[in-house]
Amino acid sequence: MRDDRALLGRAAEIAADFLESLDERSIWPTASVQELRVALGGDLPDGPSEPLEVIETLARETERGVVGIPSGRYFGFVIGGALPAALAADWLTSAWDQNAGLVVCGPAAAVVEEITGGWLVDLLGLPPTASFAFVTGCQMAHVTCLAAARHAVLERAGWDVEQDGLAGSPAVRVVAGAKRHVTVDRALRLLGFGSGSVVAVEADEQGRMRIGAVEAALEGIDGPAIVCAQAGEVNTGAVDPIDEIAELSGSAGAWLHVDGAFGLWAAASAEHRHLVAGVDRADSWATDAHKWLNVPYDCGLAFVAHPEAHRAAMRLTAEYLVADPDAARDQMDWTPEFSRRARGFAVYAALRSLGRSGVADLVERSCARARQFASEISRRPSCEVLNDVVLNQVLFRFQDDATTDALLRAVQASGEAWMSGTTWDGRAAIRLSVSNWRTSEADIERTVEAFDTALAG
Ligand SMILES: *Cc1c(COP(=O)(O)O)cnc(C)c1O
Repeated sequence: MRDDRALLGRAAEIAADFLESLDERSIWPTASVQELRVALGGDLPDGPSEPLEVIETLARETERGVVGIPSGRYFGFVIGGALPAALAADWLTSAWDQNAGLVVCGPAAAVVEEITGGWLVDLLGLPPTASFAFVTGCQMAHVTCLAAARHAVLERAGWDVEQDGLAGSPAVRVVAGAKRHVTVDRALRLLGFGSGSVVAVEADEQGRMRIGAVEAALEGIDGPAIVCAQAGEVNTGAVDPIDEIAELSGSAGAWLHVDGAFGLWAAASAEHRHLVAGVDRADSWATDAHKWLNVPYDCGLAFVAHPEAHRAAMRLTAEYLVADPDAARDQMDWTPEFSRRARGFAVYAALRSLGRSGVADLVERSCARARQFASEISRRPSCEVLNDVVLNQVLFRFQDDATTDALLRAVQASGEAWMSGTTWDGRAAIRLSVSNWRTSEADIERTVEAFDTALAG
């Protein structure tokens, strides 16, 4: 037991040292992939090693290969930080090692997920009766929600997809925006729909579905249909006109699914809620806790307005699966996973530590930092901000593709900040995402200075 205490104490120390080094360390790793292979590789050891020695070596050799993702100057993709309470709860989750698939393998885990699911439904402005599931990420949240959608639209057409599969079933039409996230396509593929079943709807200059095009796409459809809308385009942060899409989907008898991986969190802020007006009219919602809520990886969230369809798509039984005597909810009836991590603990800790006002503040501060960056960078020579900065994303470029690429590479290599590139309207662009509670005004200033240095060089 004393050994355990020393080992975990040492791990906590290493973790704290890492977090305290964020202001000084390079955001991008200083070791190459090949150097990491050499440092960490070699043959599988024949025999055991002392755990403390394993951890010391692991920490030492990975040090130069870790990206400074928890830093306030990491702006890549859409990647959150980890709130202190969520991080600590995540450590305890590992120590407790509950299997959150079944209530009998962790009643506290089941109850915490139940409570947290209810809080999230409230916070995100979803219908109070919506069901929920804690999954690995938005990708699997799409799979969960769209499996419920598949069940419901085919049931209405008199087809039992869980029993009979898709071979010979009525065709299901899927309508989605041209700028939908790629994970929607993969979810559809995994569910047997095939990319060919997607009717792609033209997007406007911000990446939002054009409502006239949605109407046209739905016009010819009278059989089973699913519409996938998006709250938060990954480059621009733009939100589809969800209220109008809900109206059209309703008239067409289609299931409306919303990809709100990060954008759904606008609903938690009075200042930004108008962007997702009507979102409660959808049938299912996929989002992430590991992005804007700032819990450690991995944690996605699925919500379904029709719990019976959700459960019909996911539930399973086996003789050896013991039912809980108090009839709490067995998570495995709602998720695609069987055995699983007790993800609810970290989300519970995040929500308790922030409260309703803290979540709103996290969203609003991130958006304010994005606006700060946009206003500063747009004053640099030849810089053009390409999006309306409605949320936490800034999309920008310089005079030509070569300059844009060169400046991005220079800033990445400086170690001062990190963000990723993209292509927008066929041209190179840089995308900056503010999704971390740590990002301060000073972090934004330092990032702009890194661009100034690159521009001067
Ligand atoms: C990140 C993202 C996803 C995928 O989420 P994961 O948690 O990485 O699975 C889906 N849609 C949008 C809009 C995203 O930004």
